Amino acid sequence: MASKYLIAVGHPDDEVLMCGGTIASQMKIKNDEIRVILTSDGNQDRHDVLPHVAHLLGFEFSIGPFPATNTHLTGELVSFFDQEIRDFQPDVIVTHSLSKYQSQDHNSVHRAVVISASRLVPTATILVGEPTFIDPEFNPVIFSDITHAIETKLQAAELYSSSLGRAYMAPKYLRDRAAYWGQLVKPGEDTLCEAFVLVRHYQGETVLADSQDIPM
Ligand SMILES: [Zn+2]
Repeated sequence: MASKYLIAVGHPDDEVLMCGGTIASQMKIKNDEIRVILTSDGNQDRHDVLPHVAHLLGFEFSIGPFPATNTHLTGELVSFFDQEIRDFQPDVIVTHSLSKYQSQDHNSVHRAVVISASRLVPTATILVGEPTFIDPEFNPVIFSDITHAIETKLQAAELYSSSLGRAYMAPKYLRDRAAYWGQLVKPGEDTLCEAFVLVRHYQGETVLADSQDIPM
């Protein structure tokens, strides 16, 4: 069954770096509905690139009025997500991790989204993605296979890097990060993955496997 995914991020490019391959692969193939909510337009260049990336990856988006590099956890920020979440009623929410090595915008988005989702869609699954900069405390448990979507992800990153040119958008770096997580899941294979921490997942009626079914 198709699901509704809300990707909540601070700036254009975060959606690609964090989960561009996942958007391009599983979500699209299953006809899932994907909405990307950004709290700020980053800057004019990134704002201009975003529609092209959205077309390439297959998502809809909307942009909030909050200032890049100066977004705080305020009632206004929570209300912004309240409205988006109420309108869209997501089954799965993907947002930033909390990390001391990243823009405060990302941490503010994380906090506001979790507060809002806990009240409005308490059974929605919440996943948080890998921070832009390496964080040794990021300890993922969910891995999305993007082996067949890596070229699309790199193409999307290329659209942004033509205006920004940041080292963390370089194709080799993005591919190596995906290969690192792939090796964690399938050692010795050529699998590429994006990684997520599971914040919350509601199982509903839980069915426990018979002990004989559990491989030892
Ligand atoms: Zn960002």
